[in-house]
Amino acid sequence: MTARSSARSPTPEFRREAMRIGGALVHRDRVIEVFNPFTECLIGTVPKATLDDVRHAFALARAYKSRLTRCERSEILKRAAAIVRSRSEALANLITAESGLCKKDSVYEIGRVADVLLFGANEALKDDGQIFSCDLTPHGKQRRVYTQRDPLLGVITAITPFNHPMNQVAHKVVPAIVSNNRMVLKPSEKVPFSALAFADVLYEAGLPPEMFQVLTGDPREIADELITNPNVDLVTFTGGVAIGKHIASKAGYKRIVLELGGNDPIIVMEDADLEEAATLAVAGSYKNSGQRCTAIKRMLVQASVADRFVELLVAKTEAWRYGDPMDGNVDMGTVIDEAAARYCESKVDEAVSLGAKVLAGHVRRGALYAPTVVDRVTQDMPLALHETFGPVSPVIRFETLDDAIRLSNATAYGLSSAVCTNRLDYIARFVSELEVGTVNVREVPGYRLELTPFGGIKDSGLGYKEGVQEAVKSFTNTKTYSLPWV
Ligand code: NAD
Repeated sequence: MTARSSARSPTPEFRREAMRIGGALVHRDRVIEVFNPFTECLIGTVPKATLDDVRHAFALARAYKSRLTRCERSEILKRAAAIVRSRSEALANLITAESGLCKKDSVYEIGRVADVLLFGANEALKDDGQIFSCDLTPHGKQRRVYTQRDPLLGVITAITPFNHPMNQVAHKVVPAIVSNNRMVLKPSEKVPFSALAFADVLYEAGLPPEMFQVLTGDPREIADELITNPNVDLVTFTGGVAIGKHIASKAGYKRIVLELGGNDPIIVMEDADLEEAATLAVAGSYKNSGQRCTAIKRMLVQASVADRFVELLVAKTEAWRYGDPMDGNVDMGTVIDEAAARYCESKVDEAVSLGAKVLAGHVRRGALYAPTVVDRVTQDMPLALHETFGPVSPVIRFETLDDAIRLSNATAYGLSSAVCTNRLDYIARFVSELEVGTVNVREVPGYRLELTPFGGIKDSGLGYKEGVQEAVKSFTNTKTYSLPWV
């Protein structure tokens, strides 16, 4: 959408408060300024949608019925994947500029976005309708029941967080296209340009604009309308627990899909390959500046191997290069803004005041916060109980397998987990007793295919799954029809 000037003949006062965007004068109050978290330079502005803009977008979407065939939807998604790959450098630079994620992370994200598009292109070709014969019981009939997935009658609202500026958007809109739905997206106001750039790619690939509209704006003004507008059938939200629960309370008789925060453990048992475990621990903790819902936020380590594990963890943490996000050699850039870096700092200070020990990092400059190891953490410390969302590795020691399971489950979250062991008896207990959506053995909690089911339980989500295939299911109505059959 474009910014609108609020006056025909601007007064001198308006001119003083206004900025020129695309030839129009726009009042400063009606734009969101987006800053590069590392350089702190203004990188651009986006308009703040008004309530009328939101209502107009939903009315447009509701009035549109897509007649795209499976083949056409698949082709659009394939073309979009090719465009994303061909522009991977420029798109990665955009993600890095507005989020502070380092170039390595942004390039990786672009690859994931292309994967989501390709999986979507394949899914669009599949008809997963089912057939049931009706003569299965003594009182059966000579009929057959068939199922098909219909797009929703109304519009889907999507609201996304800042931490994967383009991939979170792709995970919302691609399944919507696969299932011939219409979607209105409000991206995080901290990273709106990646969403807008992705929308442009889809339009260029041939997507009718009515099927996907992006609204930028201040959630305090427009969020309630995005949830309660009568044209909305489903709200899909990825973000923090507080806002997710607020949406649940507002949505009323609408379908909601909530993908919320996490407090994922890596559990290191005494038989683990400690070199491998420490490598997974740093990657799981610091990639994407520790800002993944599935980042490792607690390291639960069996006491007999904890000292050796911590030694390796500190060495690998100190080797994790961080700094200017645009430098292709660094492993980590900034967190999203200085406030987020200060928050990490304060949570570590608080843990130290409660008896924990900092062994590496804990240095802050603006939005840059060093990869930080905190040893001697206990599960009752706020650093272990709540999501920190930054590059912090709290180490908690335990004695027995039962302790590991109890500690892992002693949090309100239940997203994912990593387990380092080769013992099948341990693995079987972890898989059945950890209260999480995913158990990854000898992998980081965040490991997944963009296709496979992904999502959490407890405060991490309602149990609906994302991943292209599952999202298509939640974005559709199953219709059954039956026919006489011999
Ligand atoms: P956030 O909850 O602060 O914001 C998310 C989105 O909600 C933004 O677009 C924001 O503008 C919008 N919003 C703000 N107020 C709103 C309101 N009243 N009603 C509706 N929407 C509103 O989250 P964030 O800080 O951008 O992202 C970090 C969080 O997201 C972390 O908790 C992280 O774990 C979580 N996350 C979860 C997953 C998952 O799949 N489970 C994936 C990525 C991130």
